[in-house]
Amino acid sequence: MNSPAYIGRFAPTPSGFLHFGSLVAALASYLDARAVGGQWLVRMEDLDPPREPPGAQAAILQALEAYGFEWDGPVVYQSQRHDAYASVIERWFQQGLAYACTCSRKQLEPYEGVYPGLCRNLGHERRDAAIRLRVPELKYSFSDRVQGHVEQHLGKDAGDFVIQRRDGLYAYQLAVVLDDSWQGVTDIVRGADLLDSTPRQLYLLELLGLPAPRYLHVPLIIQPDGNKLGKSYRSPPLPADQAAPLLVRALLALGQSIDPHLAQASPADVMRWAIAHWAPEAIPKVRALAEAQLRKPA
Ligand code: GLU
Ligand code: ZN
Repeated sequence: MNSPAYIGRFAPTPSGFLHFGSLVAALASYLDARAVGGQWLVRMEDLDPPREPPGAQAAILQALEAYGFEWDGPVVYQSQRHDAYASVIERWFQQGLAYACTCSRKQLEPYEGVYPGLCRNLGHERRDAAIRLRVPELKYSFSDRVQGHVEQHLGKDAGDFVIQRRDGLYAYQLAVVLDDSWQGVTDIVRGADLLDSTPRQLYLLELLGLPAPRYLHVPLIIQPDGNKLGKSYRSPPLPADQAAPLLVRALLALGQSIDPHLAQASPADVMRWAIAHWAPEAIPKVRALAEAQLRKPA
């Protein structure tokens, strides 16, 4: 079988519209794929319908189109992949690797996000319970193409984590790993807010006997006050009529050098130029960048 050397992807969660931070991540993954003649996929991570504003999925795809992104094959929807998630969870539950947790949010508050294993050996029924995966008392590490060496002690820094919520919704960590490998993704390029998720994802890959992809985490774009850009902060959706100048601004955020004429070019021309000049080694080696500090586009 001839497996392609590079398959990249953009995997938006439709809990909001695309904003400048998502554009930076999408652009980095697109350019990194196209610069080496690789494929680029789009996957809609629609795992949480109650938190999805009506029209968000269509708006995301329209924005990608307006900004000159061209994806390969049909968009994959995680809402169509529940059987795959459920069968892995069932298997791990039967094997005792995963267990039911009935702890309330309030009960877990004092532990600041690291689950202390309260339900680990209680043998709860699955009904009305979240499902957690046991983690080993081990460090998981990887070498990020931009951020360098990253490591995390799963037991101390993450704890047994949720793979299916009490309300039945599947967790991002499991779905992303199953789908990336199902789609043959070789290179994950995404925002640095997910750096701390990567060791958990490496553990999931190990359990599944799957090879790890390459990782490149680009700086997260933050507001001057330190807030992450995103729906919670009500950052504005990407305006369709500002595609070229905002692509140029995203290229600046990625440390790329810019041709001054580009801001007046069409989005397709900016993309062509950016693919030809892609320099991943120029991406700033930081986890976050304040949007206001970006140079003004020429
Ligand atoms: N769906 C995730 C998000 O929008 C990104 C998943 C990923 O790139 O691994 O934050
Ligand atoms: Zn519990």
